Amino acid sequence: AKEQGKNKYKVFHTGMNIQSYRTFLMQNDLRKAIARNEFSLVYQPRVHIESGKVMSAEALLRWNHPEWGPVSPEEFIPIAEEMGLILEIDEWVLKSVCEQINRWKELGLPSMRIAINFSAQHFVQRNFIDQIQTILHDARIAPELIEIEITETAILGNEAIVSQTLTQIRQMGIMISLDDYGTGYSSLTYLKKFPFDTIKIDHSFIQDLASNENNSRVIVESIIWLARQLNMKVIAEGVERLDQLKLLTEFQCNEVQGYIYSKPLKPEDFIKFLSAYGEQ
Ligand code: C2E
Ligand code: CA
Ligand code: CA
Ligand code: CA
Repeated sequence: AKEQGKNKYKVFHTGMNIQSYRTFLMQNDLRKAIARNEFSLVYQPRVHIESGKVMSAEALLRWNHPEWGPVSPEEFIPIAEEMGLILEIDEWVLKSVCEQINRWKELGLPSMRIAINFSAQHFVQRNFIDQIQTILHDARIAPELIEIEITETAILGNEAIVSQTLTQIRQMGIMISLDDYGTGYSSLTYLKKFPFDTIKIDHSFIQDLASNENNSRVIVESIIWLARQLNMKVIAEGVERLDQLKLLTEFQCNEVQGYIYSKPLKPEDFIKFLSAYGEQ
């Protein structure tokens, strides 16, 4: 199906296998998903290990397909990226996060920074900065309340332009974190060259922590140590168990995000979590 290029999926070929047929249907339905209100966001708290406080949250996209039900972002995001539709989707995400921040504010809740995943494609777009600025301005949201997560693959091959864009974003007051650290090329020079506030250690390293498989302990400890030398904060992703949390505490990791505290939550459940958690 890939060779056909975008916008050319008019005929379904009988030679297609089931998987490409699902992709074919998904492409059509993804185009309509925003207008049909099928997307929503869930929020996962990030907890500061030392104080136990919820410092911020990551917004994660959910798609409820009218027939299939929930479709994993692991499945539909790559397809949306291939279609170029991800630009529109991520813009929807940023707008929705701004609306949510304002809604929480109206309810009298203290504002919390929300991290958003932006696909690699944005960082080479000429109007990317203007677009963010316009959305934040229209929603009257302080840039300090937004954080952008970017993966190493987004940087690869576009170092100069991405570095420029990230510097501008940082100057606006938006925080930047390096997502899935350790899974890509993990170039150490990236850490020095780009203005990251935070490094997020990928969950695959956290999973192996207790068993110490693949030397994960020394890797995680080194990443945390390095980040501290570079004045960056570290968040461990996918923390599920106490033994992992214990090691991360020992290594002086700053924050954790994972099922050990909470799954990503619907906005109303996120508020409930915060109040229940605060009362502990
Ligand atoms: P990610 O940015 O690395 O997000 C973390 C993923 O780990 C999320 O999966 C989250 O639900 C999951 N997770 C959190 N805690 C735990 C844990 O303790 N254990 C395990 N096993 N998993 C945990 P999710 O929500 O399915 O998202 C998958 C990926 O889809 C994200 O990975 C991100 O790359 C992408 N994605 C999600 N939302 C958006 C979005 O709005 N825009 C873009 N461009 N990409 C998004
Ligand atoms: Ca992320
Ligand atoms: Ca991640
Ligand atoms: Ca990921």
